[in-house]
Amino acid sequence: MSSGNKRVVILGGGTAGWIAANLMAKHWEQAGFDITLVESPNIGIIGVGEGSTPPLKEFMDVIDVKEEEWMHECNATYKVGIRFNDWSVKPGFNTYFHPFYSKCDDHTIPAFFHNSFLIRKGVDLEGLPDHFFLGAQLAEKKLAPLPPENFPFETSYGYHFDSGLLGKFLAKVAARRGVKYVQATVNQVLLDDVGNVDCLKTEEGETIKADLYVDSTGFKGQIMQQTLKVPFLDFGQSLFNDAAVVLPTPQGDNPRCQTTSTAMKYGWRWDIPLTHRVGNGYVYSSRFCDADKAETELRETLGLLDSDVEARHLKFKVGRVENHWVKNCLAVGLSQGFIEPLEATALDMVQETVVRFIEAYNKGDYSQADRDAFNERISGRFDAVRDYIVAHFRIVSRTDTDYWRACGSNEKISDSLRQILTSWVQGRNITQELESQKLDVYFPNISWNCLLTGKGIYPEKSQLRPGNEKAHKYKMADIKKFIHGCSLNYPSHKARLAELAKAS
Ligand SMILES: Cc1cc2nc3c(=O)[nH]c(=O)nc-3n(C[C@H](O)[C@H](O)[C@H](O)COP(=O)(O)OP(=O)(O)OC[C@H]3O[C@@H](n4cnc5c(N)ncnc54)[C@H](O)[C@@H]3O)c2cc1C
Repeated sequence: MSSGNKRVVILGGGTAGWIAANLMAKHWEQAGFDITLVESPNIGIIGVGEGSTPPLKEFMDVIDVKEEEWMHECNATYKVGIRFNDWSVKPGFNTYFHPFYSKCDDHTIPAFFHNSFLIRKGVDLEGLPDHFFLGAQLAEKKLAPLPPENFPFETSYGYHFDSGLLGKFLAKVAARRGVKYVQATVNQVLLDDVGNVDCLKTEEGETIKADLYVDSTGFKGQIMQQTLKVPFLDFGQSLFNDAAVVLPTPQGDNPRCQTTSTAMKYGWRWDIPLTHRVGNGYVYSSRFCDADKAETELRETLGLLDSDVEARHLKFKVGRVENHWVKNCLAVGLSQGFIEPLEATALDMVQETVVRFIEAYNKGDYSQADRDAFNERISGRFDAVRDYIVAHFRIVSRTDTDYWRACGSNEKISDSLRQILTSWVQGRNITQELESQKLDVYFPNISWNCLLTGKGIYPEKSQLRPGNEKAHKYKMADIKKFIHGCSLNYPSHKARLAELAKAS
């Protein structure tokens, strides 16, 4: 990378902007870059996005922040996976758990794959993911994913947190690393002769100039979409949801360590446990349900019909920009695209975008080939996440509303997803399919297996035969005992949260 005081301006102080600021400040600490984050005092952040995947822990490790420092301050809890309720009407499959990976699972994964493969060949075996993974036990028993040192089997985990507080916390960490903060509303983005961003003009009369601009202005995509006119590729044909209604409920003194996703009449709702409240949001399709109807259904479900707790309504567009790095601008966060939050992948995408960008930028020649390779990589990730989320809706067995009937019969899915689903129902090993499409790096085989088995994409029970001894080579009682034994090493979630509160 060429050294010198390169100036970087990050426009937008939502979670995306602050993650970008921290990663850039850390990675470019020695390079002497001058980093400024500009945030409007008048335009708020989106204020949702409170569940993460395991890479958020890596992010905190990279920027040298310990759990003791941030978790209590951001009302955070641990997340060991997601429970999906009411997505399937198939008997025995109305609920399943998708865990984050634990090293202990290496002992039980062969049994899970063996069983799920043979069930598809017509053998009657246990095939629900809940029975094979430690994460499901940790969630059920409310255990924190932090075993003692003498139990050296690492367990991946994510977090739930208050997004407003996390932004404020990350702003403090960035300031410690020298990131400057300016409060101003940008009302003009000017380009130079060759189409690079030349400067930002603010309502307050300032001109802000940089070598590199990061657009993290949320859904409006002020630089990338509005000024550089980078096309937005709409995913609405395969993902129908475009709105959400959000309502908090009180938290007890023993929060869960899982996100819960429950299918509703026209979409699904999240339940995200923080230490001080539970975040609830109903993600639905405005084509099938209006805002009032969605709010009433959510209130009914949460027992809040007579409550005066105010609901927040949000609209969103699903899709991504055609390119994420264009000229001297990088789009990060909602400004680069959004896929509905069923797997809480948005912040992971932010991290991946920034980390890969830094790698590419560090090469120093900023060639079109570097940009193309970077854009292809990030777009590939978006499309792979989209397909995994689309699969949730495409394989659904609910037919109780026109919404679910439309989801289950939607033929506007990618060829890649079609091949995976075909491979599964034809009883083939989808590992090969995922590897040949190079998709296993985004959602690994195990995630696809959890999704498909959890939703009961198996032959009907009446079509299954008992199977011989070889088919029953893994004994469920042994697996249960093993997982139970492993779980005894984990502390209670409640106790760990109390420890964090005390340490802060
Ligand atoms: C319903 C819903 C649920 C979600 N759930 C999850 C989840 O569980 N997990 C997850 O990882 N993600 C989730 N997300 C996504 C997540 O909310 C976002 O990825 C995350 O909050 C980052 O947002 P952002 O920083 O890109 O945008 P925002 O939070 O909208 O921030 C935009 C920033 O830009 C600034 N700005 C805008 N225009 C200007 C201007 N002209 N001048 C100066 N400043 C400006 C604003 O002041 C603000 O600071 C969810 C999103 C939605 C819609």
